[in-house]
Amino acid sequence: MSFFLVSIKERLSLSLCLPSLEPLLLFILAFLHFSPCVSIQVFKKLTTLFKTLGVKAVFDTSCSRDLTLIESCYEFITRYRQCHLTTDEKSKLALPMISSACPGWICYAEKTLGSYILPYISSVKSPQQTIGAIIKNHICQMLCIRPEDIYHVTVMPCYDKKLEAVRDDFVFQVEAQGEKITEVDSVLTTGELLDLVKSRSVDFASLEESPLDKLLANAAEGGHLYGVHGSSGGYAEIIFRYAAKTLFGKEIVGPLNFKTIRNSDFKEVTLEVDGETVLKFALCYGFRNLQNVVRKIKAGKCEYQFLEIMACPSGCLNGGGQIKPKAGESAKDLIQSLELKYMENVTEADPLENPIIKGLYAEWLDEPGSEKAKKHMHTEYHPIVKSITSQLQNW
Ligand code: SF4
Repeated sequence: MSFFLVSIKERLSLSLCLPSLEPLLLFILAFLHFSPCVSIQVFKKLTTLFKTLGVKAVFDTSCSRDLTLIESCYEFITRYRQCHLTTDEKSKLALPMISSACPGWICYAEKTLGSYILPYISSVKSPQQTIGAIIKNHICQMLCIRPEDIYHVTVMPCYDKKLEAVRDDFVFQVEAQGEKITEVDSVLTTGELLDLVKSRSVDFASLEESPLDKLLANAAEGGHLYGVHGSSGGYAEIIFRYAAKTLFGKEIVGPLNFKTIRNSDFKEVTLEVDGETVLKFALCYGFRNLQNVVRKIKAGKCEYQFLEIMACPSGCLNGGGQIKPKAGESAKDLIQSLELKYMENVTEADPLENPIIKGLYAEWLDEPGSEKAKKHMHTEYHPIVKSITSQLQNW
């Protein structure tokens, strides 16, 4: 996230959020994190700003995203083997595996597509819910804090993340009769964050830069950030590299060769071994493209083994909570400049080598795909049965 991403729209959600949020920020241990497309200076200035509001720790989601990527890699290998080594009916639903980080896509799949598509969607939680699970389960235990005493806020690129945070799947109880605990208590869009800055009359440029909280942030000692390429999560890229190495012994060095297929929001990448295509993944952004690909899955004609599906055209940089182009600037130009800035001053790093994630597995989750990892890092999807009234309306 970077400050240039924010817009000043949608004051309504901000006014709904803040009255209950502010006292908690001042008096309760609060955690706040935001997505990783942020220069180090903005990250440090936001840390200053939030801490003056009473926030106790500020993280970005690049670290929790690394954990979701590792779990996704292991899930893909399991599904691939299931698909290729067994012939029962269930194994046919193992591939293609579809990414699950976009709540816009999940909502559409549950409400409109229902049971035929849901088994293909990865069970791995999004980075937002992953960091929520880490904080409310593991970090609480580690620091001897009750999870109900933490108010955890995320800053995200779209309003659908608010819907994701309130799903029943992301609520848990520590004791049988205990209070219900949400992994994420409140979600602000980047636009609402700018509203907050303006409402406090903060001169952002002159804010001091605070040291970063290293507990769950991919920030190196030297003061730079590290993460993965891909402004919408990098799922296709990271899983492709991992599958090429694990399944076919091919270490891919350098950038992947994504080829544009129908439009800039539909790209594919393939791996060939001995003249045969053994892996075929696609990035599929925007509803027009995802509807086409879903039709193919339904007809049993999808040639991809993995699909990184995002509801917004151009992905999360173009999310509904992000900045709109200025007068005279095209949406395309804005997205292109954001794509470049997203990785500016960010060093690419392999999620599997992330020392924080290694520590989380060693101290808490055991290993990727373990029972503990399934309990805390994975979720389920539910077809939403339409009411008779809505069915009659569509009839
Ligand atoms: S693609 Fe759009 S709807 Fe989906 S998570 Fe990103 S910003 Fe939200």
